[in-house]
Amino acid sequence: MNRASKIFWPMLVKPKDAVIKQTEQLSRSQKLLTELGLIKSGSNGTYQIMPIAQRSLDKCINLVQQNMVEAGGQKITLPVLTSTALWKKSGRLEGDISEFYMVRDRSGKQFLMSPVSVWTIREYFLLNAISFQTHEEAVTAMLATAAPISYRQLPLRLYQIGPKFRDELKSRFGMMRAKEFLMKDMYTFDLSQETAKDTYDIITKAYDRFFQQLEVPFVKVNAETGIMGGSLSHEYHYISSVGEDTLVKCESCGFAGNAEVFHQSSNCPNCQKADNLSQVHGVEVAHTFLLGDKYSKPLGATFLNTSGKPQSLIMGCYGIGLSRVLAASLEVLSTDQELRWPKLLAPYDVCVIGPKQGSKEQTLAERVEYNLLEHLGDICGSDEVLHDDRKDLTIGKRLLDGKRLGHPFIIVAGAKSVLPEDPRLELHSSDGNKMELNLNEALQMVNQYVSQKKHLINIRMSTKEEEQTNRQQKVGHTL
Ligand SMILES: [Zn+2]
Repeated sequence: MNRASKIFWPMLVKPKDAVIKQTEQLSRSQKLLTELGLIKSGSNGTYQIMPIAQRSLDKCINLVQQNMVEAGGQKITLPVLTSTALWKKSGRLEGDISEFYMVRDRSGKQFLMSPVSVWTIREYFLLNAISFQTHEEAVTAMLATAAPISYRQLPLRLYQIGPKFRDELKSRFGMMRAKEFLMKDMYTFDLSQETAKDTYDIITKAYDRFFQQLEVPFVKVNAETGIMGGSLSHEYHYISSVGEDTLVKCESCGFAGNAEVFHQSSNCPNCQKADNLSQVHGVEVAHTFLLGDKYSKPLGATFLNTSGKPQSLIMGCYGIGLSRVLAASLEVLSTDQELRWPKLLAPYDVCVIGPKQGSKEQTLAERVEYNLLEHLGDICGSDEVLHDDRKDLTIGKRLLDGKRLGHPFIIVAGAKSVLPEDPRLELHSSDGNKMELNLNEALQMVNQYVSQKKHLINIRMSTKEEEQTNRQQKVGHTL
């Protein structure tokens, strides 16, 4: 059981009428997270994640890991420091490196700290460069120096979760655009373009599922154009006014693209209609890329084919910005006053508030409170229950905190819980409902919620056939 009185939870106490110096642009979720003591601003552009928010981030990490394992992923850890010598080989140091953090060791060797590209699609075409996650060189060099890899070992799908760095000129919107953030990056290795395409489908399906599980509306932007010679790329965006990418969305068929991609034609490239296009702002939360032999060739990463001859590995790279997914989900779902979480990322399922210390109903209401806590522990697992045991505070004050934190459910055992005829609990749900229920009814509500969560966890990855059927139905529907 988690007890609110023991949790490190450094809420900002603002003196009345205080003028707080705004050092950076705040988004509403960041403002709430900071005020509620879920994150703290470190040196400009970095964030300290406090225990309650860390729970949510850990849930996000676990969910991604489940999906990666299901898609055949194996977890590894690559060093944060990558030798710049490797980047010279791949040619990436010739690009714009102003946002990279570089360090030297005592012998003068230079290293990059896990960077992430911020090239827009436009730059991508202009430079004819390939966008990337971060560790392509490192992982490719690792495979190049491993014992000869046989075609029998392929495909290989390696992923890691770790910090990435970007020397943002203007970091803003909290964890959405920070100088250091958490990312899941996967690198895949196949024996041919065809099997690499299969891998690409499997991983993007795992991404689709992950974003469906979070239940935050997302658009999957198709960055495929044919210019790169059959390369494939998709971006996943949350639609938000603080988003920095401009997207064009076709309301007729659901197709979305970067404004740059749409630029050439006034029609939807998918359904050819022109009358139903709208512009929206997106926060990019994930990116997938089929890379071909862009890195394996210069770095000499090969496998032995069926005739025992070395052949270049065909690669893909796949990234999800985990801290950004969390921040952007909150940004999309929350109100100005209260946080709202995806079900699977809420720090706790339910918060229990009992009577105030010294109130006349204390003894009797506490019996109800502890009985409730025990039952909730059985339903959700005790780690998903937050007991707000700060009994020196009034119920009202704790309820206010709980609402701002956005717990899916807050259940209050107070004066109404000691009515001898019909003891009642007050249940507040994050969708804005307030109900007076008896114990069983309240438990049933929570039970339903737990089933919904289970259902989300068990969403299957859709197969190719299902997807085709869906598409046909969708097209049928729009016509
Ligand atoms: Zn369309």
